[in-house]
Amino acid sequence: MERAVAQQFMSSLRHCKLCPRHCGVNRLQGQSGYCRSGAGLHIASITLHKGEEPVLSGRDGMCNVFFSHCNLQCIYCQNYQISRNIQREPGQTWSMERVTEEIIGLLERGIKRLGFVSPSHMVPQMTAMVENLWLQGWKPIIVYNSNGYDQVHTLRQLEGIVDIYLPDYKYADATLAGKFSGAQDYPQVAAAALREMYRQMGPLVHLDDDGLALRGMIVRHLVLPGQVQNSLAVLRFLAGELSPKLTLSLMAQYWPTPAVAAHPQLGRRLFAEEYAAVIQEWEELGCTEGFVQELESAEYYWPDFSRKEPFEDTPPC
Ligand code: SF4
Repeated sequence: MERAVAQQFMSSLRHCKLCPRHCGVNRLQGQSGYCRSGAGLHIASITLHKGEEPVLSGRDGMCNVFFSHCNLQCIYCQNYQISRNIQREPGQTWSMERVTEEIIGLLERGIKRLGFVSPSHMVPQMTAMVENLWLQGWKPIIVYNSNGYDQVHTLRQLEGIVDIYLPDYKYADATLAGKFSGAQDYPQVAAAALREMYRQMGPLVHLDDDGLALRGMIVRHLVLPGQVQNSLAVLRFLAGELSPKLTLSLMAQYWPTPAVAAHPQLGRRLFAEEYAAVIQEWEELGCTEGFVQELESAEYYWPDFSRKEPFEDTPPC
């Protein structure tokens, strides 16, 4: 990475239009927009994570940096403890020294993949961290794990920095996107973002000799209770507009968080027949590449970010 890239990203915070919210606030001078994030390293957790897709976590796990706050506010967010934009600024701001020390501590143990979770509103900070690691001689495989609500021009600047894109494609239904995530334009915005990721990576995930991902794109879709039609439309978009060879990660881990425990649609787990209908569509579309999470994953996949190791009770992939 040229040093100019991280600096250019940082200066874009002066009039922040990093993500599709286009707030235009000066985050360098303490203003905050929709994401209520400043210019610091707002990080909720840096942890070893063994529960990602097998080609990412492998046996030993990957290092994940979980940013605080988010540019989407899904009412059912499974990481709600860290993603809610409640405070004016996220609680924890880390120093670059502390971040680098934590990450290198894991890389020294042989961990090769470094994931940034919810990075869409923190791209300048992410690139500054990557640049810092590169300057110190560390070149982990960079995984960009986003909600899909990304801006194409921001993604273009990540070409050559990100090795693996791991976006969600949550909704093909604009009404649902507005109702559940406060972003009615999500379907077309995320579709454009995914097209850009696809342009950079193509359909194949390139693997090393151990079967672990080196480069490529994996699209995640969390199936929501009562929303099978949305899921079918998502799959048709991915197979029809991108490629049936695209690697898909179908997720069944949804559980109703306290905020939606009494919600008429979201207050329950997925029914087996709902998940089966989505899997069937995936097969009928001729898709073969990817991962299908077990329905039972909803019983144990409950991260707790009040702990140092939020995933310590979740079994490995
Ligand atoms: S990153 Fe934050 S401040 Fe910038 S446009 Fe997006 S939501 Fe607004």
